[in-house]
Amino acid sequence: MSMAMQFVFLGPPGVGKGTYASRAGPQLGIPQVSTGDIFRAEVKSGSELGNKVKGIMEAGGLVSDDVVIEVLKKRITRDDARKGFILDGFPRTIPQAEALDGIAKIDMVLNIALPEDILIEKISARRVCRNCGDLYNVASIDREGIKMPPMPPKEEGKCDKCGGELYQRADDKEEVIKERLAAYNKQTSPLIDYYREKGILVDFKPTAGPEEMVPKIIELLKEHGS
Ligand SMILES: [Zn+2]
Repeated sequence: MSMAMQFVFLGPPGVGKGTYASRAGPQLGIPQVSTGDIFRAEVKSGSELGNKVKGIMEAGGLVSDDVVIEVLKKRITRDDARKGFILDGFPRTIPQAEALDGIAKIDMVLNIALPEDILIEKISARRVCRNCGDLYNVASIDREGIKMPPMPPKEEGKCDKCGGELYQRADDKEEVIKERLAAYNKQTSPLIDYYREKGILVDFKPTAGPEEMVPKIIELLKEHGS
């Protein structure tokens, strides 16, 4: 089995890594792989692994790294990941990165970064549909060389897709965002050094919206595939 494009997208909450991964992946013929999504799918499928995960979550426990790696291994050996994958939201810690090295050969880690004040503004402007979960963003950013247009609904407070009510998640309030960013920085800075030392870290600072940034990211991924 030869895998050519195995990537990790690193970045704080709100930096847009999920959006970038979900748009760049399909254009390269590789899936976006999010451990959160896999867990939800496994639980839903009622597989042995899914039941194990469900049991752990229902007991209020955290899924251990061993289980995460087991799930991930199963996911990246599936047919649609033959050419590779983009890992989004994993690894988060050094032990997870070391375990990942045991099941994959990561070609490049894209370290996506934005200044903290811009992240806070972006996240606190996020609005979610109460009914279908569709995401909007009402922030209009144009400073520090960064120009990101808003992605508002057509009608204020109302979902374009289903007409549902838009709201701000408790997680996206400014005080909580600051805590989430501090936790990310504490947990993940060692990971940046870990991958930089391996010589596979590439820094990326978005300066515009996804329409302009995704093609640039795709170029970087093509350059660094093996
Ligand atoms: Zn909706």
